[in-house]
Amino acid sequence: MCEGERVAQDSVIVVGGGPHGLLHALALARVGVDVTLLEARPPRPTNSPRAMTFHWSIMRGLDELGVLDEALRRGLIHRTWSINVLGTGERMQIDLGVLADDIEHPFTLHLPQDELADIVTTALLAEPRVTVAWDTRVTGLRQDADGVTVDVEADGAVREYRAAWVVGADGATSSVRRATGLGLPGITWPERFVAVNVRHDFAAQGYDVSAVQLDARDGALVAQIDRDGLWRYTYAENLHLPEESLRERMDEMFRRVLPGGEVPEVETWAAHRMHQRVANTFRVGRVLLLADAAHVTAPTSGYGLAGGFFDSVTLVEALAEVVLHGADHEILDRYSEVRRKVFTGLASPVSSESKQLLWNADGPGRLEEEVERFRWITSSPDRQRQYLLVGRRLESPPLRRRRATSVAGSV
Ligand SMILES: Cc1cc2nc3c(=O)[nH]c(=O)nc-3n(C[C@H](O)[C@H](O)[C@H](O)COP(=O)(O)OP(=O)(O)OC[C@H]3O[C@@H](n4cnc5c(N)ncnc54)[C@H](O)[C@@H]3O)c2cc1C
Repeated sequence: MCEGERVAQDSVIVVGGGPHGLLHALALARVGVDVTLLEARPPRPTNSPRAMTFHWSIMRGLDELGVLDEALRRGLIHRTWSINVLGTGERMQIDLGVLADDIEHPFTLHLPQDELADIVTTALLAEPRVTVAWDTRVTGLRQDADGVTVDVEADGAVREYRAAWVVGADGATSSVRRATGLGLPGITWPERFVAVNVRHDFAAQGYDVSAVQLDARDGALVAQIDRDGLWRYTYAENLHLPEESLRERMDEMFRRVLPGGEVPEVETWAAHRMHQRVANTFRVGRVLLLADAAHVTAPTSGYGLAGGFFDSVTLVEALAEVVLHGADHEILDRYSEVRRKVFTGLASPVSSESKQLLWNADGPGRLEEEVERFRWITSSPDRQRQYLLVGRRLESPPLRRRRATSVAGSV
């Protein structure tokens, strides 16, 4: 179908088959929208270490999409997390059980994001409303009054796809965002973070399945990946240190941190820059952005996946209103406004604070202050609950509480 040609007004293209593009395509199909998903990589994802902590706030949503049971079967859940002070051995604990009266799933899931992608892909391929094109890289797009024409490269050839709406879920370097002329303004932190998959028994050191290691120099996030002794150790170092010698510094760091100066078996690792960045709008005409294509954050609060997930929930609602019920397109501007506000007002500041606590705690008295704050929080179930419930505000209230037709009971 070519530029300017009439296109079905209920058709949507989702660009990017990362966790959010896949989940978004599945959610759109489930509400009755026809979706084409374009993904640059082949069907089998890579296994470079990436996200693995799925925040408790999105468990209900994963359940509603029918993918939670399989995710729980493949992953690990944790109902508590520990705060371990490296220098003194002090251990504090947060118990997600304090949320038992607030939510149905008071636990967090550990599962490599590629595993979730695999589960969601299986569900997607069973959806008659979904077409998936792998090995298909979007290179540009053009909009007109009726729809969007998307240019792609696939199998060494160029071709076009066309739909009424395009959702860019193609990650931080989003080609869709660039094609609309939008940037991703914000800051880049002066540290790089290093995610290491490592074989070492952190549980024997008093770490919960998920742990925050506090130290003025060697702050880290520690999380068990599977039941076979694989853990994720995430730390940070100065961005100006040469990346070529990172591996040697990693061994030195483990010698400092692990009991008896042990150097564990490192299975794989990846280093990334950290940013707080957000697009000025998540909508340009018929093109919408969600998740990392719209905003990126330091990964220290697990808000990357959760923030993107709730973008998707709100955008499914808005798009369904427009394409299935003929709602005014203005609801898509409201999607952009409310989700941008959640990022700038909550996800980004909370993640910045946790990043500074973990990887910039060497100011005078800073670490002691933070340890004292955690002692205060962990010493009362109610304070733990208040502390945790901040994560609930990642979700936006429905844009339309109730459609007019359903009031009359006619649907
Ligand atoms: C090491 C690491 C650890 C992390 N840990 C956590 C964590 O534990 N918890 C958490 O919440 N967050 C974490 N994050 C952040 C989290 O990974 C991201 O928020 C999440 O991956 C964003 O998902 P996405 O689907 O928006 O984008 P991506 O995962 O980046 O997926 C984008 C997809 O788009 C495809 N694509 C890109 N360009 C094109 C194109 N031109 N055409 C077609 N397809 C294209 C890519 O191939 C990719 O499949 C971590 C990040 C890193 C780097």
